[in-house]
Amino acid sequence: MTIGVMLRDVLKSLFKRPVTELYPFERKTVPLELRAELTWDPTKCSGCQLCIKDCPAGAIELVVLDKVNKRFVMRYHRDRCVYCAQCVQSCRFNCLNMTNEQWEHAALSKEPFVVHYGRDEDVQFLLEKAAKEGVEECPDQPTDPN
Ligand code: SF4
Ligand code: SF4
Repeated sequence: MTIGVMLRDVLKSLFKRPVTELYPFERKTVPLELRAELTWDPTKCSGCQLCIKDCPAGAIELVVLDKVNKRFVMRYHRDRCVYCAQCVQSCRFNCLNMTNEQWEHAALSKEPFVVHYGRDEDVQFLLEKAAKEGVEECPDQPTDPN
């Protein structure tokens, strides 16, 4: 590239809008269909674990607190999830869904990547129990559902 061509390109660029976006100060609206965040409705869950068996990434676990009274907590490993929505398809009770909300998941530690879904009292019970027993509530390896 000659100096002349380069200078012409520089001058042209000076009067063009930058193509880069000023993220995070400017955010584009994400598509409605974006599979960004898994949600779970514990009130409909039967505890069948089909979603867990079908998940190709070992990204979800179901903690059974009381099977008779259907008290379950879902432990979701956001960092393992490949956002395929297979679990959503597999669930026969429409407990799982993927939304386009909360798509910014970057973090400096691993804790925010382990999410507990369930009734508030059940999640609290599980976390308190783990704290008492000194068990890490975000294990590095998934448990085998089989
Ligand atoms: S497939 Fe649905 S009903 Fe079965 S454990 Fe998963 S969320 Fe619950
Ligand atoms: S979206 Fe796919 S990878 Fe993520 S939890 Fe569901 S089945 Fe697993």
